[in-house]
Amino acid sequence: MILILEPNARPESVDFKALTGQLDRLPGIDYRVHREVGAEVTLTEIYLIGDTGALTVEQMQVLPCVEKVVRVSETYRVLGRHKHGDDRPSSFEYNGVKFGQDTLQVFAGLCAVDSPESADAMMHALKEHGQVCTRMGAYKPRTSPYAFQGFGAKCLPYVFELAGKYGIKVIAMEVTHESHVDEIRAALKATGNPTGVMLQIGTRNTQNFELLKLVGKQQEFPVLIKRGFGITLDESLNAAEYLASEGNRKVVLCLRGMKTNMGDPHRNFVDFAHVPVVKRLTRMPVCIDPSHSVGMRSVAPDGVLDLFHVAAQGVVAGANMVLIDFHPEPAKALVDGPQALLLSELAHFLEDIALSRETYLRRTALGIKHRAN
Ligand code: PEP
Ligand code: MN
Repeated sequence: MILILEPNARPESVDFKALTGQLDRLPGIDYRVHREVGAEVTLTEIYLIGDTGALTVEQMQVLPCVEKVVRVSETYRVLGRHKHGDDRPSSFEYNGVKFGQDTLQVFAGLCAVDSPESADAMMHALKEHGQVCTRMGAYKPRTSPYAFQGFGAKCLPYVFELAGKYGIKVIAMEVTHESHVDEIRAALKATGNPTGVMLQIGTRNTQNFELLKLVGKQQEFPVLIKRGFGITLDESLNAAEYLASEGNRKVVLCLRGMKTNMGDPHRNFVDFAHVPVVKRLTRMPVCIDPSHSVGMRSVAPDGVLDLFHVAAQGVVAGANMVLIDFHPEPAKALVDGPQALLLSELAHFLEDIALSRETYLRRTALGIKHRAN
């Protein structure tokens, strides 16, 4: 059960204390207070955990400060869409960029930062095409211990400075350890906070629960969590819920394909049919990653790259974010060169995405028209 409090409810107020006093006396019930401090309004939700079946909505509704009571009908308490009276937001803003189930952001960029020159060329191209988001991997979990592991903290200062220079507002960057979050925070501070970072949890760490708890505890950076490549969707959504249950609900779920030979010849089995499923089950914006799903630059007989086709499929189905590998010189890329798009393909890719988005919006309007008839 979730108690949604009146806006700007203050923990030090008499009413708030009266409320928590009453909750303290409920037998077999624990509760967790979540406060989201916004520019204009502070929202407070209280999650009741335990034997809530005995409580009635009517009984909780009349408690001081309580504006609304939502009975949790689904597993994903914080991020889920609950059946009755759940009109909690499905969007958030970070560094001036909106992420929601109704918006679309493209994060084109380097799988791994391999030189200041490639980061510069990438961000320069993005600025020329009006883009304010990118991906830049600094910490790379690799299958082989002998493969390039990313430049880590060493590359952060120039990546952040270049982002400032080219007006990049959000960089998706994978972290695999708590220390990476500290290094990112320190490098942002040292460079004067020229940009923002969306922390990425890679598919190999989707169920690294201790990492999820740590990343979920901080509310400074939003989080992009990849679907686990060999677990059920329910398990991945529960992983996202770990982040939110610790306090960070600025979470985007990224579909990136599943590891199965059935996906051959693609690197992974493309799972973008699940875009509407995740939007239905949760309030998270949904990202698609065509690069790590398809993993190759094969061209269909119609002349269109599989990467473009798959990205279009996700966007036409309502994806809210696209994470996609580009590289100025893929042959020289230290990670995932074979799946990288060329900078000369950026304009084409963005136009194709815009076309797919327009199709999605027209499809939803078509649905509204037909349902009204
Ligand atoms: C990546 O996006 O760079 C990456 C390693 O993806 P995944 O965790 O999906 O393999
Ligand atoms: Mn990669």
